[in-house]
Amino acid sequence: MKKLKIDAEKCIGCGACVALCPKTFFLNEEGKAEVKNPPGETEAQIQDAIDSCPTQAILWE
Ligand code: SF4
Repeated sequence: MKKLKIDAEKCIGCGACVALCPKTFFLNEEGKAEVKNPPGETEAQIQDAIDSCPTQAILWE
């Protein structure tokens, strides 16, 4: 599995990634998405979350 990165500057904390992939993303105490280690969903499911992020804050490293 490729590595994931969240750009905290871009993340607006909408929760879309968490709703789609709750075993991979969570919102931290600052309301920004973070990546769980290891991610719990498949690469295809994670790609859906990446495509659903309104600010393109989720990146494959
Ligand atoms: Fe942040 Fe994008 Fe996840 Fe929304 S979908 S919480 S903007 S990373």
